Amino acid sequence: MTQQQTSDWLNAGAVDDILHSAVRDDGRIREVLQKARELKGLDMADVAALCHIAAPEQIEELFATARRVKEEIYGHRMVLFAPLYISNVCGNECTYCAFRASNKALKRTALDMEGIKRDTAELVRQGHKRLLLVAGEGYSAANGGFRYVLDAIAAVYDVTDASGNIRRLNVNLAPFDVDEFRQLKQAGIGTYQLFQETYHRPTYAAVHTAGKKRDYDWRATALDRAMQAGIDDVGMGVLFGLHDWRFELLSLMQHIAHLEEVFGVGCHTISVPRIEPADGSNLSLAPPAPVSDLDFKKIIAILRLAVPYTGLILSTRESAAIRRECYALGVSQISAGSRTNPGGYSGEESAAGQFQLGDHRSLDEVVHELSTMGFIPSFCTACYRLGRTGQDFMDLAKPGLIKLKCDPNAVTTFQEYLIDYASESARCDGERAIDGELSGMSAKARKTSERMLARIRDGRRDVYC
Ligand code: SAM
Ligand code: SF4
Repeated sequence: MTQQQTSDWLNAGAVDDILHSAVRDDGRIREVLQKARELKGLDMADVAALCHIAAPEQIEELFATARRVKEEIYGHRMVLFAPLYISNVCGNECTYCAFRASNKALKRTALDMEGIKRDTAELVRQGHKRLLLVAGEGYSAANGGFRYVLDAIAAVYDVTDASGNIRRLNVNLAPFDVDEFRQLKQAGIGTYQLFQETYHRPTYAAVHTAGKKRDYDWRATALDRAMQAGIDDVGMGVLFGLHDWRFELLSLMQHIAHLEEVFGVGCHTISVPRIEPADGSNLSLAPPAPVSDLDFKKIIAILRLAVPYTGLILSTRESAAIRRECYALGVSQISAGSRTNPGGYSGEESAAGQFQLGDHRSLDEVVHELSTMGFIPSFCTACYRLGRTGQDFMDLAKPGLIKLKCDPNAVTTFQEYLIDYASESARCDGERAIDGELSGMSAKARKTSERMLARIRDGRRDVYC
């Protein structure tokens, strides 16, 4: 199998040209926002125009348009997940990360299968149904090599107890070759997620100083190899703070356009991590290109308009206050109750975390707050389990048909959470939120939802459409 290894479709010169030729033009910005309301997405030149928005009234119009697009496509749903860090052993030197090889102060841990099961069991007990498996790039022959990853995935899916199980396991792991990706798919992963960190080559070289990750092209082409191997839900991301966010957004658009051209479908999700302070890293205290809170909100709003059907993921790197402000601007998935140290959920390991977290609240607290803010927390995993991935998902999503599935699945999985895991106060407010949601649904979606809810209240579990 040929391994895609060059990323000549990333054209930094073209990005610079588009960015610098786009001047602040009020008429053009209005035109782009109007185009965005049609839910057909934006091209690179449109994104460049929005990157120049600076006047307060235009920022407000950008945010209002993003809120409208978000609500139209995602309704009130907010999907929840937690990261599961299995290993902080790493052979790379990413100057911003506490796991980097030269950080001798960090206690290293690669959880064994029992440790992975213990952490998974704790997350299941809290009510999680989807996890994101995360590890440093340090699979050595001594710890089983690539087999370690496959065994870890099997160990997570193996955990089933009275309180439930993990129904979708996404992964955020260093790049693999096509054959390894094929094995990941066979192991039953949901999305394969990989952040390019920065698309700017000189910055990439400056912050990745040793290890396999120095190879920009091997990383930039990883999603091609994943797709060649049949993984059709892939997730992209940029580590904001390394280089000018405008350059990163346009490069991300090039990356998406490339996947669309070659595979007929772009990425399933985009993550927007901002650099956080990390033990032993000076870089994270003073990122080379810091992104202000206002620019961070612009990034989310612009992405929402540019790729309306692509999930946007916001992690607990951000504080509760920023997260609240960002939800309505376009975020469709959030993590909650996260730990970034292997063994951190079961509390049996004292390994240090990858970076400082901004939101330390429990899943129950986050879920409770979401429901009082007008959102419906969703634990849905239906699409992946029914094979609605990649192009099939987009074919349903684009004409708006997916709503007839997502809305009933969201209230149903939320009801399941409220009965099985929620605190008393979260349950009361949650039940009220479900009633409110039902009353705003179309007759068809409401009928499906009520039928599914009745089964959950009757004691059935894992009901989806
Ligand atoms: N080790 C693999 C890799 O680098 O691709 C996968 C997992 S890595 C633990 C997940 C992500 O954490 C990285 O892609 C990077 O964007 C993010 N990260 C690392 N250090 C960070 C920091 N100080 N603040 C915020 N995010 C960070
Ligand atoms: Fe290792 Fe990933 Fe951290 Fe880089 S970001 S040091 S590859 S864990």
